[in-house]
Amino acid sequence: MLHGSEGLGIERGRYGTPSPGLWSMCERAGRGRSLYHDSVHIDPRVLEILPYPAEVLKRKAEAIPEVTDLVRAVADRMLELMHEAEGIGLAAPQVGVPWRLFVTRHPDDREAEGGRVFINPAVEIIDPSAAEDTEGCLSLPGIEVTVRRPVAVRLTARTLDGADIDEARDDHFARVYQHECDHLDGVLIIDRMTTMDRLRNRRAIRELERA
Ligand code: ZN
Repeated sequence: MLHGSEGLGIERGRYGTPSPGLWSMCERAGRGRSLYHDSVHIDPRVLEILPYPAEVLKRKAEAIPEVTDLVRAVADRMLELMHEAEGIGLAAPQVGVPWRLFVTRHPDDREAEGGRVFINPAVEIIDPSAAEDTEGCLSLPGIEVTVRRPVAVRLTARTLDGADIDEARDDHFARVYQHECDHLDGVLIIDRMTTMDRLRNRRAIRELERA
């Protein structure tokens, strides 16, 4: 999830110099069955943001074959948690649900004041020139790192109502969308940080791992 403390600041963190492979598409993962198999155990009312090193944060999430009442309830709970934490984005794996779904809050968008929901999102890099910025992550409290990312992306997804989303961004949300799609592929900002940031955050990361 993205943190809102620095304007539109991303869930905090930094990727350093990622490999081109990590920058590429937010791929759609395996479809079908296991979504429903896993969902039997999901109670949306009790979902909470899970801190690193929760195992689900490292897994590749599964595509959502159909928007059911359960999917809606999970999305509603995620929006609630994102607002409570004053974040600007939250991905389903961060609440322990291994689905390809994330939510965002666009403070300047009055029509989407309550937040937006993205089902089966995919990002495509449309301008590979990269920029660095500070990112944080609601799953990594107390950690902020600089992440280098492509500056412009196209995001395709579906809404809860089944409408197509097809959005090109070259603003802060280009970064937000990449950060959230990373979560769906089990990638965190600490996987992308520079050696220097790894050293600087070594103690904070170790504390999370021991908690
Ligand atoms: Zn995050």
